[in-house]
Amino acid sequence: MPEGKRKNVVIIGAGAAGMSCAATLAKHPDKFKVTIVERMAVTGGQATSISLDKEKYGTDWMNDGVQGGSQIFKHTFNFFKKYGHEPQEVKLQVAFGKGPDGFWTNCFPSPLVDRFSKDIKKFGRVLSLIKWTMPVMGLIPIRIMLRMFFFNKEFGEKMVFPLIALFLGTGNQTANVSCAILERLFDDPNMKLWDYDSETLLPNLPTMVTFPNLHNFYEDFRKDLESKGVDIRLQTDVTEVVQRNSKGVILRTRPFDPDANNRMGQHTGFDTKTETFDELIMCVLADDALKILGKTATYKEKFVLGGASFYDDITITHSDTAYFQKHYETHFNDSLCASPKSKEQEQQIAFSKGEQRGPEDEPTGFRPMYYTKSYASDPKKIEMSFDCTNYQHQFRMDHDAETAPVKYENHVFQSIFLDKRNRDDLWTIDEIDKDKIIESKWWHQLGHRWQHYVRVVPGMFPFPSA
Ligand SMILES: Cc1cc2nc3c(=O)[nH]c(=O)nc-3n(C[C@H](O)[C@H](O)[C@H](O)COP(=O)(O)OP(=O)(O)OC[C@H]3O[C@@H](n4cnc5c(N)ncnc54)[C@H](O)[C@@H]3O)c2cc1C
Repeated sequence: MPEGKRKNVVIIGAGAAGMSCAATLAKHPDKFKVTIVERMAVTGGQATSISLDKEKYGTDWMNDGVQGGSQIFKHTFNFFKKYGHEPQEVKLQVAFGKGPDGFWTNCFPSPLVDRFSKDIKKFGRVLSLIKWTMPVMGLIPIRIMLRMFFFNKEFGEKMVFPLIALFLGTGNQTANVSCAILERLFDDPNMKLWDYDSETLLPNLPTMVTFPNLHNFYEDFRKDLESKGVDIRLQTDVTEVVQRNSKGVILRTRPFDPDANNRMGQHTGFDTKTETFDELIMCVLADDALKILGKTATYKEKFVLGGASFYDDITITHSDTAYFQKHYETHFNDSLCASPKSKEQEQQIAFSKGEQRGPEDEPTGFRPMYYTKSYASDPKKIEMSFDCTNYQHQFRMDHDAETAPVKYENHVFQSIFLDKRNRDDLWTIDEIDKDKIIESKWWHQLGHRWQHYVRVVPGMFPFPSA
């Protein structure tokens, strides 16, 4: 096909979405000439890695944003494998809440799970009801559903909200998340992270996956796409769509200095230029997309993209064990454990105490990776944390973790403080020892409120054009 017949496509954003979109189009070089414009100096978007002191922490790198996922992420794993970066399986261990009245885990029985055993069973029946009455009940926010079915208020605050917040990344918007997403999380084979457990809500030690070094992966991905003819323009900011019509798309771009500011509209004095393409694909966050589209946004685009709400959160990556132990239950403790009611629960306790190996020969011991803390003054809101040393595989694999485990005082933790508007009232960020902070990073996170499922989800369906 002559050069003139190829579509000149521009993709804005080189995160997971932009890179995978480019990979698909690059399979048809006869049809598409592909350009990616990315404001940062590297590809990968929110999937970033940082360096660590190997002597101290047992490995020289960690992923500091995206860390892992469930076994359903098939497309992601295919890309990892293609470039020789293997994800690794890990048995999920959680530690939610603090003290015998607030704590529960999926590793051993706890008084809290005993107390809410009727609510947990009812929760399973309500999930089925949501499924069969979709989409009607699907639109209802979780907090309303919990009230409608007379669930114990603390069951919502101590078990449901922390669980959903952490795994869906919905943070402090969890109470407003629609029931549709809740049902899918437990039931949709293409989305579910684990099976609903009628005894404990979250099953014992389900398998999850931790990601390879995402910086290295995206470097290999970038080089491969470039070798296939994709033009990847880093440190270039798209400031506005000047025109969009049947004649094509005109973008205004300018060089971007990531160190100066990583949000739009803060730069002055750079040379801007206009560039013309045939087609535009936006792989940026919805609010950024709306800003870039500016006056060219259609009514529908404004309605759909404007329906997504974003919150500014900060992650503190640190090794402050004192902070962690003050706010979370980090080790097995008899007062946190309920009497076993079955042989299986006896084994779970023995595993958690370090007396025997777990299912599939899992090395013994309670070593949670996911943590949440509910704020006493507003129990619907939480702080989320990770013990990255227990979670990310390289901390175990870069040396023999069983014979030479990283000392607990050298564990790397990550605490996520949600929605900066809560900073003054709720956050305990200032308690973290500044000398033990490895990195602080702000993120702009989508909150899946119920409005998301009214405005954004239906709006994104690829309805056939008339
Ligand atoms: C703290 C955190 C932890 C997470 N943990 C996990 C996890 O463990 N597992 C998981 O599966 N998911 C996780 N996620 C979600 C995951 O990161 C995202 O779903 C995914 O990375 C989004 O990819 P994307 O390509 O849509 O967007 P992004 O990665 O945000 O990519 C968008 C890109 O567009 C660029 N851009 C924006 N505006 C412009 C412009 N005007 N001009 C040029 N370029 C522009 C940005 O610089 C960015 O590189 C996490 C997210 C966060 C914030």
